[in-house]
Amino acid sequence: DSGIGSWPARRARMTPGARAFVQDDAVVTYAEVDRLVEAVAHGLRARGVAAGDRVAFLGLNSIELAVTLFATARLGAVFLPLNTRLAPPELAWILNDAEPALLIHADDFQEAVATLDLPRHRFTAAGGHGLDALAVESAGERIDVEVGLDDVFMIQYTSGTSGRPKGVMLTHGNIAWNAFNLLVDVDIRSDEIALVTAPLFHTAALNQVLLPTFLKGGTSLISARFDPATAIATIERERVTLLFGVTSMYQALAQEPTWATADLGSLRSALSGGAPIPRTLLDTWQSRGLHIIQGYGLTEASPGTTMLRAGDGLEKLGSAGTPCFFTDVRVVAPDGEDATPGQPGEVHVSGPNVTPGYWHNGAATDAAFDGPWLRTGDVAVLDDDGFLYVVDRVKDMFISGGENVYPAEVEQAVYTHPDVAEAAVIGVPDERWGEVGRAVVVRRPDSALTQADLLKHLDGRLARYKIPKAVVFVDEIPHNASGKLLKSRVRELYGTPEG
Ligand code: AMP
Ligand code: MG
Repeated sequence: DSGIGSWPARRARMTPGARAFVQDDAVVTYAEVDRLVEAVAHGLRARGVAAGDRVAFLGLNSIELAVTLFATARLGAVFLPLNTRLAPPELAWILNDAEPALLIHADDFQEAVATLDLPRHRFTAAGGHGLDALAVESAGERIDVEVGLDDVFMIQYTSGTSGRPKGVMLTHGNIAWNAFNLLVDVDIRSDEIALVTAPLFHTAALNQVLLPTFLKGGTSLISARFDPATAIATIERERVTLLFGVTSMYQALAQEPTWATADLGSLRSALSGGAPIPRTLLDTWQSRGLHIIQGYGLTEASPGTTMLRAGDGLEKLGSAGTPCFFTDVRVVAPDGEDATPGQPGEVHVSGPNVTPGYWHNGAATDAAFDGPWLRTGDVAVLDDDGFLYVVDRVKDMFISGGENVYPAEVEQAVYTHPDVAEAAVIGVPDERWGEVGRAVVVRRPDSALTQADLLKHLDGRLARYKIPKAVVFVDEIPHNASGKLLKSRVRELYGTPEG
């Protein structure tokens, strides 16, 4: 059995007494994780969960999330983490598509799932023991399911340009190879102390930090939420060595009064990714002797794709680096050939960390691949030394506080308001979040629709980070001769920070 569900037992055999997870006052050793995982796996089986079934999880970061994912994997079942920021209709759509056998949710999400017609189990996070009511102690009989590297380990939903989320299937092998990349690229060590404050329902915190740290027998300090002052105090007190954050987190840390004086010298690897990181922010961290390792990746690649390593030299600062060890990257020019240095092209990625495709969506899978190469929808250039610079996107998407927003999905929600005749949503630059949404709307004749009306209408239909910050009412939206809405022209006309 080479699956990820075997990792706790293998670790418990090697380093039973080492600290695997810490949350608030709770400390859980590797031996204890293995025991909890085994009991929860038996409990899941008693609830009817079998190999191939999906087990959905909705909750803030917790040790229970980690226990659930290992227990699910041990049964050969599929872990389905849900973005806690989604609105109830968005959650319902995903659950309807994925048809999980069970939804495990933290008690703070009771309301969000109240109307769902689906078997569920509610828990209160308690240092890993929150699932004790679900767990079944088995007298010595261990779960024995043969899990292979090509079996699906998790499904991670991402939105898309079609306006509907797609489930990215990631296999045990995908996640293992991504973790191996990290061990080589970042040199994750057995004495690693990782601070996990970014949400574990995204691939970055889970696959770039928690799982590689676990594989090596290090310690993950798990926080339910990110708070900059607490994070700085924790780094100093616990001698944190590994951190992942999105741009807005690194910015918030640098703006914290204690940042300038705190002893952050224990940090060996400060990983960033998910969005471009401004050069000024990299310089600010560099001025304190701290190197933010910019990574580029996407859920479909588990996500690690390229990385600017600590030893790559200051002159490359701002680049997303070179490919991860086991991963290959091409930049493809519009003519289909490999781009020459400096020539922009679409990033294609291939490797053992790349998804086999989308859940129940062969059409989307076919559209995404060119042979073994996954088309990313991102535009980049390579320099003469093979360093990648992400410069643009061909997919219609923007990133707000590390969360991807697909305008097609927001536009669909805007159109559910009866007074909207036509709408286009764009991302505009924002000091704090990188980008925020702006809706450009044509009202129906005689409508007195206001910005406040429309935003209120969207509240509860869309996750907050997807809801536009501003609405601009216009008489018409630019179209081309054949009537197609011209997004690029909308961006030119209405995309400046001031509007
Ligand atoms: P996700 O699937 O949420 O991981 O989002 C992946 C997308 O985020 C990529 O396809 C890029 O558009 C964007 N992205 C990730 N990392 C970077 C980066 N370092 N620079 C620019 N864009 C990035
Ligand atoms: Mg992202």
